[in-house]
Amino acid sequence: MSYQHQYQDGTAVGLPLGKVVCVGRNYADHAAELNNPIPTEPMLFIKPASSVVPMAQPFRLPTGHGSVHFETEMAILIGQPLSHATEAEAAAAIAGVGLALDLTLRDLQGKLKEKGHPWEKAKAFDGACPLSAFVAAGAVADLQNLQIRLRVNGEVRQDGNSSHMLNKVLPLISYISDFFSLQPGDVVLTGTPAGVGPVVAGDQLKVGLGDLLEVETSAV
Ligand code: ZN
Repeated sequence: MSYQHQYQDGTAVGLPLGKVVCVGRNYADHAAELNNPIPTEPMLFIKPASSVVPMAQPFRLPTGHGSVHFETEMAILIGQPLSHATEAEAAAAIAGVGLALDLTLRDLQGKLKEKGHPWEKAKAFDGACPLSAFVAAGAVADLQNLQIRLRVNGEVRQDGNSSHMLNKVLPLISYISDFFSLQPGDVVLTGTPAGVGPVVAGDQLKVGLGDLLEVETSAV
C-alpha cells in the first residue's frame, strides 16, 4: 500500500515522504514500565521512508522475529527545511499534527540492546511506521495538551497526555535539527506514553489524538 501525506479531509499535503525521526523514552511513565533509565539528553533514532504505511489501512505485522509492540505517538509533519533551528523556526515549520504507531520488534530489540547493537532491525523494518492523516498545524490550539489514546479490541491500552513529554515538541525539533537536517515531508515522532504492549494479527485498533483525530485500523 503506497503512502502519501494527506490531510484529514483526504486532500494531499503536497510534500514528499521523507525520513521519520523518533525520540525514545520521552515520557517518564513509559521509561519506567520498560525498566529503562530516563535519558539525560533526547535519545534519537530514525525510521526510513520505507517503514511508513497508511495507518487507516490494515497493516501487516512482521513474522518470525518475536513479539511486535505498539507505541502510540503524536507525529509532527515538517513543512520547511530546518537545520540548527531555533524553537521559533521549528514552530513556523510545522505543517501538520497526526498520529503514528512506532511498531517495535520488542524481543529483537531486547537482544540488540543487550549486545550494544543498533536498533534498526527492531524499529525500522518495512511497515514499522503506520502514519495517520494530518491536522493542519493552525487547527491545533496547544501541542502540549493533547490526549494520546489507543484502544485495542475495545480496551483502553494507552491514554497519555502530551503535557507529560520530557522533551517538548519545539525544543525536541530544535535539538534534532542540530544533528539531522529536517526536510519538508519529514516527520518527527514525539515518543510514547505508558501502556505499550503486543499487537497480534486480528487486533482492531482505535487511535486518537485529543478531539482532533480518530483512526480505526487493524493488524493483519
Ligand atoms: Zn517510540
